[in-house]
Amino acid sequence: MKTMTCNQLGGPCDLEHRGETADDVIKAQDAHLKEAVGGGDAAHQEAADAMSARWADPAGGMAWYEETKKSFDALPQG
Ligand SMILES: [Zn+2]
Repeated sequence: MKTMTCNQLGGPCDLEHRGETADDVIKAQDAHLKEAVGGGDAAHQEAADAMSARWADPAGGMAWYEETKKSFDALPQG
């Protein structure tokens, strides 16, 4: 298991997401952003919008995904 924070995934807080793969933490972050914004947390709005834009623009989103995957792979296990 590895840990990436909301911050490392482009968000504004230090909440930790744990997962076996980059996809796990990206999915967790996506859910976290939706939940935060749904709960009226304006600080997460920008990151949530950026995440939605990535899904709408697969080519642009892929660069972010590759970067995030690289960061994830470079993390120590634990
Ligand atoms: Zn957050």
